[in-house]
Amino acid sequence: MGQKPKRTKSGSAWMHEHVTDPYVKKAQLDGYRSRAAYKLLDIDKRDQLLRPGMTIVDLGAAPGSWCQVAVQKLKKQGRVLAIDLLPVAALPGVDSFEGDFTEPEALHWLEEKLKSGQVDLVLSDMAPNMSGVMLSDQARHYELCELALEFAVDWLKPNGAFLVKVFQGVGFEGFRAQMRLAFGQVVIRKPDSSRDRSNEVYLLGRNPHKREPVAVDASVTSSQD
Ligand code: SAM
Repeated sequence: MGQKPKRTKSGSAWMHEHVTDPYVKKAQLDGYRSRAAYKLLDIDKRDQLLRPGMTIVDLGAAPGSWCQVAVQKLKKQGRVLAIDLLPVAALPGVDSFEGDFTEPEALHWLEEKLKSGQVDLVLSDMAPNMSGVMLSDQARHYELCELALEFAVDWLKPNGAFLVKVFQGVGFEGFRAQMRLAFGQVVIRKPDSSRDRSNEVYLLGRNPHKREPVAVDASVTSSQD
């Protein structure tokens, strides 16, 4: 017989919250894979992010409820490229890669899929497994956010957008400053479906600034000619 999982007080409190959460029930009724679907739906209602014809990259996509929302809004025109450490069960209109976004293989997969095409919308709902040590959890989370931001800046169209989950606290202001350097407009969103007790919010960046080409010091090369 398998070992019974250890019961903890916080575990049973989580289970109670989970089974009584209206968004969990609603997700089951609406056929979404997780309650997270309503966060993207809420933000999209306000900001009109998702439109037919788009190329969307979804980072931290499992189990796939944001992919479900994106596919519905694309109305069979456009595509979703999804990455997660965990598998994303097959969905028409979604190409997925099971792997770590911080590893080169994930970026190679995206580059291969995108070829020279650009992206309309980068979504990042990535969150590392929490160890409970606040400082290191925040640091690991912001490492993921920074990599997602770098990807967005490299690949977004001039009118593209980047939506990223962040946690307020250590690292938040620094990351928001990086977002402001990268985008013409940056706003904070806290969807109704995001739990009040969570310090989770989303940053939405629009109109990425054009990257300046790396300056080459002509004097160094010309003196060698
Ligand atoms: N948006 C998803 C949905 O609607 O179903 C839920 C995403 S869940 C909150 C966060 C996800 O981030 C987890 O599935 C986790 O595996 C993923 N994740 C964390 N670190 C990652 C990494 N380095 N690379 C890829 N995915 C990662």
